[in-house]
Parts: sequence; C-alpha cells; structure tokens
Amino acid sequence: MGILTSTSPATGQQVGSWPTHTAEQIEQAVRTAHTAFTSWRTSDWALRTALLEAVADRLTARREELAALMTDEMGKPVAEALAEVDKCAWTARFYAEKAPEFLADREVETPAARSWVSHEPVGVVLAVMPWNFPFWQVVRFSAPALAAGNAALLKHAPSVTGCALAAEEVFRDAATAVGAPAALFTTLLVDEADVADVTTRIIEHPLVAAVTLTGSERAGAAVASAAARVIKKSVLELGGSDPFVVLDDADVALAARMAVRSRFLNSGQSCLAAKRFVVADAIADEFTHRFAEEVAALRVGDPHDPATQIGPLAREEQVTALQRQVDSSIAAGATVVAGGKRPEGPGAFFAPTVLADVTPDMAVFQEETFGPVAAVIRAFDDDQAARLADDSPFGLGASVWSRDVDRALAVGRRITSGALFVNAVVASDARLPFGGTRRSGYGRELSEEGIREFTNVRTVWIG
Ligand code: NDP
Repeated sequence: MGILTSTSPATGQQVGSWPTHTAEQIEQAVRTAHTAFTSWRTSDWALRTALLEAVADRLTARREELAALMTDEMGKPVAEALAEVDKCAWTARFYAEKAPEFLADREVETPAARSWVSHEPVGVVLAVMPWNFPFWQVVRFSAPALAAGNAALLKHAPSVTGCALAAEEVFRDAATAVGAPAALFTTLLVDEADVADVTTRIIEHPLVAAVTLTGSERAGAAVASAAARVIKKSVLELGGSDPFVVLDDADVALAARMAVRSRFLNSGQSCLAAKRFVVADAIADEFTHRFAEEVAALRVGDPHDPATQIGPLAREEQVTALQRQVDSSIAAGATVVAGGKRPEGPGAFFAPTVLADVTPDMAVFQEETFGPVAAVIRAFDDDQAARLADDSPFGLGASVWSRDVDRALAVGRRITSGALFVNAVVASDARLPFGGTRRSGYGRELSEEGIREFTNVRTVWIG
C-alpha cells in the first residue's frame, strides 16, 4: 500500500497524507458503484434534480473551506478558488434544471404505432482528473453524468487528494440527504507508481462502462488505448495552445487587457488559456508594450491573500518544465519583455513572462506552456495570422480580435478548434459545449452535447 501526500507549493509544507486503496478496496468500490447505478438508472427526474441541488447547496455552504483547501494543495489564488466553487454550484443547478429537457425522448414518425429516441445512462464511468481545477474538472463531468443516471468513480491527481475526498463527501452527503444511493460518487486513492496498471484494470472491469480523462496527451493516449482494447467509450480533454489573434483594426488596449486575463488565469495553468498571441505587425509594438506593462503589474505572492493574482505553480516540476521552454525559446531568438525566470525566494513561483519575436520553430510556440508565459508572434496580414494561429498540433479554443466581426470570423473559420470566441476570452460555460479537436482530444463536456456523451442513444419501436 502506498501513501498519497499533498504539499503546499507556496510553502513546501505538507497538507495531508492518505494511504492508497488496496486492490480489494477498489474492487469493492466498483461493485458498490454498480449497485448504486442499478437503482439510479431508473430514478425519476425529481430525485435527480434534488440530488444536484443538494450538491450545489453543500458546495455553497462550504465554499470558503473548499477554496482554502484548493489554495493549500495546489496554490490557486484564493479569489479564483472561491469563483471556482461558485461555478461548480452554478453548474450543478444548471443541470438540475436542464437535464430533463436535454434528455427528453424524441418522438419520430415511422410506420410503428409509436417510435422514439431515448437517452439512457451507460453505467459506471471512471473519471481521471488533473490538479489544475480540482473541483471544476470533477463537477463538470459528474453533474451531467449523474443527472443522466450514471454513477461516477473519481481517480484524481494525487497532489489534490484532500479536494478529491472533499468532493466525495459533498456528493455523499447530498445523496444521503435526498435519499439517493450514497455510492453514486466514489473517490479512489490510487498509488502514482501503479496508475497505468490500476486505471487499466478499472477500465477493463466488466462493471465499468466508460472513461473520461482531463490531462496530458500521454495520460490521454494511455487511458484511451486501454478503453479501446475493451471497446469502451472514452472522452479526452487534453492540452491546448490556443491562439489569441489581434487584427490591425482591433481595440488594442482592450485586447491587451483581455490577453492578460486569458493567459494568466490560474497562474497560467489552464488548458483553454491563450498561449500564442498572433498580432498584426502594424499594432504589434503597441500591443506588446501594453500587454507587458499589465503583466509586470500583476500581483504575485501568497495565494491565500485575496489580492494575489498569481500564485505558485501547482508543483515544482512545472517550474522546471516552463524554464526549459522559456530558455530554449530565448536561445532560438525570442526576446524577454517581462519576467523570464523564477523569482528569488521559496515556493514554486515563476515570474509572469512575455516573450516577443517568437517564431513557429520555438518551444513556446510548438508546445503547450502550462504556466504564466505568453508568446507574441507577428503576422503581416490576415492570411498569415490565420496560418500561424492554425499551425499547432492542438485545437481547443481560438480567440480573434477585430472591430469587424465578419473579418474576425473569416480568420476564425480557418483555425481548427473546438471553440471560437470573437472579441472575447475563451472560457467554459455550462450552457455551451466544451472540448477539443486534434491533440486536444475528442468528445464534449457541458451543455446538451456533454450530458449525452455518457448516454446510450436508444431507439424504441412499438409495433
Ligand atoms: P497527467 O496527464 O499526468 O495527469 C492527469 C491525470 O491523469 C492524473 O490523475 C494522473 O494521475 C493521470 N494519469 C497520468 N498518467 C496516467 C496513465 N498512464 N494512466 C492513467 N492515468 C494517468 O498530467 P500532469 O499532472 O503530469 O501534467 C503534465 C502536463 O499535462 C501539464 O504540464 C499540461 O501540459 C498537461 N495538463 C493539461 C491539463 C488540462 O487541463 N488539459 C491538466 C493537467 C495537465 P497521476 O498523477 O497519479 O499520474
């Protein structure tokens, strides 16, 4: 049996430690989750709605405590942590209200006496989740999955085990309060050293129906391969290197301000953050100057201070990885206009950084940068801007800025991505589907499309 430990990346102090589950405990959890599913699959809307509302109530009642836990375990600035808990509660309520409409039967006229299409739950779904949005990633998956009649098993990142257990408590308390099965949501504590073997065994388990993963390409490919071998459905939400395209007629001051918001949210550790800033040559100097000025003014520090905008990165390895990407890009000709390295002092901090003169051969262009580093690339016209923006193995989101919406859309249509935002920052919203193309993954979360991912689209015919 191993031990999972979470450590504050700001102070290096241990937050908690927990023994991992044994193979027998995991087997028992799968069976109990499946038993919960067998009664939940035919539950009525009133009970499902009550469960999600009870989840939302508990998230709201515990918001300060849950936010502080996130801040302790992965260093998220507390103002953002509170907003994350609120977004989770809002999304649980959204599905409480909308699930019956999203999953309503669709009557179809045929020679049958009556025929329709229904959306039925698939069963127990395994969720493998990362540390960057410890509660949001979990609720984004589980609120629609449970609303659709499924049961959930969570394999969270070990560095946020406290959050993983708190999420389980929220769902269990809510289920017990409304009379739903307590085992609809179970957190599994899996030894990091055995993660590939253990998750493969869970995916192969006959009582597990499907898997969803948010994280790296490496983990996504491993989990999806395991699912494919046993013909089970997978949804993958992987990395991104979203372009933020500023055309020459854009409101440059606004674009620069929004660029800061997009890139530096969650201290830069977000899959849908803008990472490559493709800027029209005519306004590139002004944009870069304004952008760098705002970046230099960001308040870096103690993530528990409500005024802090940039906290530490979640883990020390992230700092090393980011420094390598920045150093190699500088060596290849990029210019530092803000930051560039880790500041003096303790903690896994990295100074908010802007690199100019970036070209497509550099690491900060080709790879996902998972921290507070922005890459600015010049484009001579809209055609080149579209080509540079689309020159990426990823395809999660794209943001295009112009006073002429048609012109922005024309550029946007030439970029492959799961979301296109014009004169706005790419963000996830429960009312709209969220997901990627290319190496950013497949499948959708949120909205109507998201709730249907883990349903069986079933044809019913009455002769
Ligand atoms: P990982 O993809 O390794 O971790 C995400 C989750 O997947 C964790 O729960 C992890 O568990 C699990 N996992 C890892 N390998 C396997 C495997 N072979 N089989 C089953 N599950 C697995 O991300 P990292 O934390 O290592 O971050 C690395 C990079 O990934 C980041 O720098 C960033 O580029 C990207 N990333 C993207 C995210 C996004 O939101 N799209 C979120 C997080 C990371 P365990 O930790 O126990 O290995």
